Amino acid sequence: MTLFSKFKDLALGYEAYSRNGVHPFNVAFEKVLSPTVAISGDRRIILAGTNNYLGLTLDPLSIERSQEAIRLHGTGTTGSRVANGTYAVHKQFEEILADFLGFKQCIIFVSGYQANLGAISGLIDSKDTILVDADCHASIYDGCRLSGATTIRFRHNSPKDLDRRLARLKSPGGSCLVIVEGMYSMYGDIAPIAELLAVAKSHGAYLYVDEAHSFGTFGPKGRGVSEAQGVLDQIDFYAGTFSKSLGSTGGFCCSSHEEFKLLSIASRPYVFTASPSPSSIASAQAILERMRSVPELRDKLWENARQLHAALLASAYELCAPVSPVISVKMPCREAALSLWMKLFEAGIYVNLAVPPSTPNNSFLLRLSASAAHDANQIQYICDTFDRLGAEFRDGKSVATSEWDESGGARSSGDLAVANPGE
Ligand code: PMP
Repeated sequence: MTLFSKFKDLALGYEAYSRNGVHPFNVAFEKVLSPTVAISGDRRIILAGTNNYLGLTLDPLSIERSQEAIRLHGTGTTGSRVANGTYAVHKQFEEILADFLGFKQCIIFVSGYQANLGAISGLIDSKDTILVDADCHASIYDGCRLSGATTIRFRHNSPKDLDRRLARLKSPGGSCLVIVEGMYSMYGDIAPIAELLAVAKSHGAYLYVDEAHSFGTFGPKGRGVSEAQGVLDQIDFYAGTFSKSLGSTGGFCCSSHEEFKLLSIASRPYVFTASPSPSSIASAQAILERMRSVPELRDKLWENARQLHAALLASAYELCAPVSPVISVKMPCREAALSLWMKLFEAGIYVNLAVPPSTPNNSFLLRLSASAAHDANQIQYICDTFDRLGAEFRDGKSVATSEWDESGGARSSGDLAVANPGE
């Protein structure tokens, strides 16, 4: 037994996904030609699994502001805001985000992952109780773990189950925090936030909503599912990321609770890490400006999402949710998912292969994310390719039936025991 013995199974599971030197969890893009096209090896690839919902990662204004921020403030902050001081760009963007979302305060973190880790573990301690949706992201679960609080999972998107579990809590000593997401990243389904909020409030619990994937994509102003459902002003904590619609890196958490500002000294993942680089902040801020001034981008995103969703349904794929910017195809087993992923890649289309344990119900998924930057030809090509390959699958030509795991469960070489990269 060595330190690394436990990696043996992991390596076996990981290698089982490799085919002819291509690995779906290790695709390298040597050159990015546009928000929807990149070069990988000798292939020109249409990117259909990026989370680049508004397609603004190469926006000229954002690039210019980012370069200007480097010239003015340097390439990095080289330390935590608590120990090394705060830059004006961080404070300014916090004010802009708080104002845009209608909260009194906002705190910026170095990533969306750190925002969840830092906000949850800073707000909650071991005397408190957390009720977390079963399908929440790994960063939320890690935040719960770091908080030391009793953490109870409730059934995905079920206000009834939440109500039952909250009612069962025997006069908890501390406070109670309910955590959900706006749009869930794996299936692309939406939380009934208004109902969950009503249940949380009826039990005196706080509500924390991570709108990582729904910021920029839902709501009349792109403020997420809580805006779309008319309850944005009632939720206690709103978390988000710069890494999807805002095309940068960084994360944030907003609240109107007066004491929230003290999170900046209570949160270890905030205090003990360097603040985001000024260029990341500047580019996210520029993209937010674009997002607000060009709402047509959201219309285009949804038009593309609707077209992809309708075409995949027409080609008889099983989809995980009604139309949304994330469109996930449920595959019957690992081999089928991997085989179709490879064929799509050979045809010049990159989607996300999502496998247990990162997926709900241990499902094997081909996950697409629509972008406002996909043009009509790209959307048509993706639809046509899925249709052609789907016909092959239905005819049984692409995967030898002996390779199919009829149970849909894990095969002997094991599932990949790491979180799915990118999601
Ligand atoms: N929250 C959710 C719901 C996510 O899906 C993700 C990552 N995709 C994160 C947080 C982490 O965001 P980031 O990549 O900015 O760390």
